[in-house]
Amino acid sequence: MGTTLYDKVFERHTVATLPSGQRQLLMGLHLIHEVTSPQAFSMLEQRGLEVLYPDRTFATVDHIIPTKSQLRPFSDSLAEEMMVVLERNVRKHGIRYFSTDKGEQGIVHVVGPEMGLTQPGMTICCGDSHTSTHGAFGAIALGIGTSQVRDVLATQTLAMDKLKVRRIEVTGKLRPGVYAKDVTLHIIGKLGVNGGVGYAYEYAGEVLERMTMDERMTVCYVNPDETTYRYLEGRELSPKGAAFRRALEYWESVRSDRDADYHDVVVIRGEDIEPVVTWGINPGQSVGVNGVIPPPSAFSEGERATAEEAYAYMSLAPGQKIRGTKIDVAFIGSCTNGRLSDFEEVLRLIRGKGFKVKPHVRAMVVPGSQAVRRAMIEKGYDEVFGDAGFELREAGCSMCLAMNPDKLSGREVCASSSNRNFKGRQGAPTGRTLLMSPAMVAAAAIAGEVTDARELFGI
Ligand code: SF4
Repeated sequence: MGTTLYDKVFERHTVATLPSGQRQLLMGLHLIHEVTSPQAFSMLEQRGLEVLYPDRTFATVDHIIPTKSQLRPFSDSLAEEMMVVLERNVRKHGIRYFSTDKGEQGIVHVVGPEMGLTQPGMTICCGDSHTSTHGAFGAIALGIGTSQVRDVLATQTLAMDKLKVRRIEVTGKLRPGVYAKDVTLHIIGKLGVNGGVGYAYEYAGEVLERMTMDERMTVCYVNPDETTYRYLEGRELSPKGAAFRRALEYWESVRSDRDADYHDVVVIRGEDIEPVVTWGINPGQSVGVNGVIPPPSAFSEGERATAEEAYAYMSLAPGQKIRGTKIDVAFIGSCTNGRLSDFEEVLRLIRGKGFKVKPHVRAMVVPGSQAVRRAMIEKGYDEVFGDAGFELREAGCSMCLAMNPDKLSGREVCASSSNRNFKGRQGAPTGRTLLMSPAMVAAAAIAGEVTDARELFGI
């Protein structure tokens, strides 16, 4: 039996087996940002320790940065303080900082790949739960907590249990108007939000093979291939010349073997996937855009209480259509869908057709990085979006988690291309989030309610 990508990368990065049975894994790349690093640096200093590998550590600012204006000092004194602390820490420890001044800032999971830092066969960690994004390159990418950020700063290693590997094959083709976001929401909906606990998911199949790197970053953890190598070639911090050729050999060697031994394999037909909308309080509670809110009987006993909680919180009842749900805010952005190609797809659908955002909807387009924003402005996308009623903002996490001024208020409903719909996630303790693809968010903004983008845009 052959070996999986996960097993190969895991074994090659194992430094030791700990008395607990866990493995101590070398981290090839540590991405840090302003929210989960300050306490970690303080703990390091209290113990008189240095950052062991500053050249493997890279910083940016994303969660707290305002997207209306990035001018300093920020009006939120806490946000300003976090910036000051991050700036001091990177200076003190000699860490490369992707700052706003240099025009390199952005969401940590957008900037890492954009710079060419994220590469196949690596181990990558970051104090953010969506670090799995980097798995799109065939890297083991781990979201870690603050005390683990401290551990990695001090030792460049993490203690970890080895996971089982589930291969998820998406076969055939996606139908028009169905995107990578729908693929990922469909899979989470099918396997459950806890279905992946204890597993690494390796995505495969024709649908994934055809995806661009941007699309794969919406899905995560894919074997590296020509698409990956082409994406990396020539990026600022990816290997160059002979080093690139050597890296290529390593990248090829970590691909899963044809006869690799998986714990199990799940097959999903690409043709069966519809545009998906979440209706509940976790990303697994979703339906196709023309579906209805499922009844309690559709859930296992363990999931029923969360479903009941979701009906109440979202003010949605079993049997109700998701289509037609009124929205107040539309947000296109985040590390899953704040890349240039996401905005270009929306523009392709709306440009020159006279579409306008409904007057009662606040529609925001938030680039994942300053580089994405610059490219949008150079191409005149800001004007097209502006004419249609979408406001182009500065780069940041924005409404994905609302640790900045971009928040819902009261019971507002947000059509959002982000990746979390937990209670209160977008800043208002009673605010409601419906996750969907950027095209579906744009359609909802224009219709003022959840609608089928395929019909509205004639896809
Ligand atoms: S966009 Fe959301 S998930 Fe992504 S890094 Fe920011 S807060 Fe985390």
